[in-house]
Amino acid sequence: MKLLSPKEINKMTTQVNITDVAKKATVSQNTVIETTHLCREFGQGDTLVKALTDANITIERGEFTAIIGPSGSGKSTLLQLIGGLDNPSSGDVFLDNKNINHMTGNELSDFRRDHIGFIFQAYNLIPVLSAQENIEYIMLLQGVPATERNKRVDNLMHTLGLEGLGDRRPAELSGGQQQRVAVARAMVSKPSIILADEPTANLDSKTGADLLDMMKELNEKQNMTFVFSTHDPKIMERAKRIISLVDGCIVADERRS
Ligand code: ADP
Ligand code: MG
Repeated sequence: MKLLSPKEINKMTTQVNITDVAKKATVSQNTVIETTHLCREFGQGDTLVKALTDANITIERGEFTAIIGPSGSGKSTLLQLIGGLDNPSSGDVFLDNKNINHMTGNELSDFRRDHIGFIFQAYNLIPVLSAQENIEYIMLLQGVPATERNKRVDNLMHTLGLEGLGDRRPAELSGGQQQRVAVARAMVSKPSIILADEPTANLDSKTGADLLDMMKELNEKQNMTFVFSTHDPKIMERAKRIISLVDGCIVADERRS
């Protein structure tokens, strides 16, 4: 048997390392969200509530995922933790391979502003701002120039059927219109991830279905990653992946073609 020279051994190990590094880079490039052993508890002693227990989820870029489960099963808790709006009791959240729980408050809010769009169940629009201003607000924080801001707002309002409503305040819009403003606001900064907590819960079924079509179109055309919670069977049917929660535990995780 021929023994390898130190130089040959060195060459081989270098090759192995390069391959490993390349493989890792490919995997991590596609993973946008990862949670490891994620837990969230509220209260203590007799009042302890385990809202989320040991959630291990990996979501690839461009996935269209529904989180389903009965009321109180931990859907909102999970979305809030993924979005960095709440802190886990234990476990970690990685977004674009960065551990958000290791970021300082400022790093996290900058990261959230630049990478995540959040659509809340209750819209959370700013009541004193017009629809246009609500949508524009985050771009002001980002320092996007006015011409670019106007262009993006106009395009989105057109896509979402909100033309002519830019000057209205939230109270002067219907529920469906407010929800579309909230969607526009979440998308205008072109985040890579959109998190939506029961986005169709307050909409009639036709408006809800339209909203889902729009989300799906953005997902397909722009490869935006969507994670949304719902307990509407019609909405969950249209997801490409369904993660089911019961009492804070993931009981099923299925991809569909
Ligand atoms: P879902 O969105 O599926 O309805 P949640 O994530 O809102 O469920 O809640 C999961 C569990 O955690 C519930 O039992 C809820 O009462 C509890 N919970 C959520 N937020 C809090 C909180 N801030 N304080 C105490 N308990 C909470
Ligand atoms: Mg909820």
